[in-house]
Amino acid sequence: MSGIILWEGQSELDGKPIVLIAIDHSSNAKTGDMIQTYILRSDIHPVEAIHSGEDHSICGNCTHKGATCYVNVAYGPSQVYKTYKTGKYLSIPSYQFTRSVRLGTYGDPAAVPQTIWQSLMQQQPPHTGYTHQWEKKRYSYLKEWCMASCDTSREQVRAERMGWRTFTVVPKRQYRSEILCPASEELGKATTCATCLACGGTSSKVKGNVFIPVHGGKGKVNLFRIERGLHATH
Ligand code: SF4
Repeated sequence: MSGIILWEGQSELDGKPIVLIAIDHSSNAKTGDMIQTYILRSDIHPVEAIHSGEDHSICGNCTHKGATCYVNVAYGPSQVYKTYKTGKYLSIPSYQFTRSVRLGTYGDPAAVPQTIWQSLMQQQPPHTGYTHQWEKKRYSYLKEWCMASCDTSREQVRAERMGWRTFTVVPKRQYRSEILCPASEELGKATTCATCLACGGTSSKVKGNVFIPVHGGKGKVNLFRIERGLHATH
């Protein structure tokens, strides 16, 4: 994996040490060919950070931390962290994205200072991004590039009222009036994020909000249902 260290510093979420790394190669079937960006604690292995609760520095108040996170932390984030620790990634602080990028492949973009994203996004590359920190006014600048990640209809309504475009995960077989993600199983994984680019916040050409039925292994789907007071599926 070829990667670049874009920034190292203190998390905007809790002041602890984090790093922002870009990986210019993606084997992610859903996103397609986009630069992937990883936001990691720079001093703690990502799996250990989950177990100790130190992942707050990069995930904030996201309810999916650990158990229902769609990212398999034992793979991508762990591999990136391991390579980072061997010193194999170059540090390029003045880097700017010039092609499609996913903001926060792992980790919430809100953990990285606003000035860093503004500098990286100067050339207005195609992008997607999601944040769970949308309720805090200090992160409202992310509206331009990111969707508000919502887990309930109430959250979706609230985020929309605050001026965010929203991306809502709903229980399986629940359909809504918003745009159904075309990379969903329900639409036969018709496209990738790199082609679709609907989830680019208010600067996306696509307007309106997006939803996707919960996906992943049965364990994650069931945890998602239990958290919402629904019965687990078998
Ligand atoms: S709506 Fe488009 S950009 Fe958003 S997650 Fe689905 S495929 Fe990706």
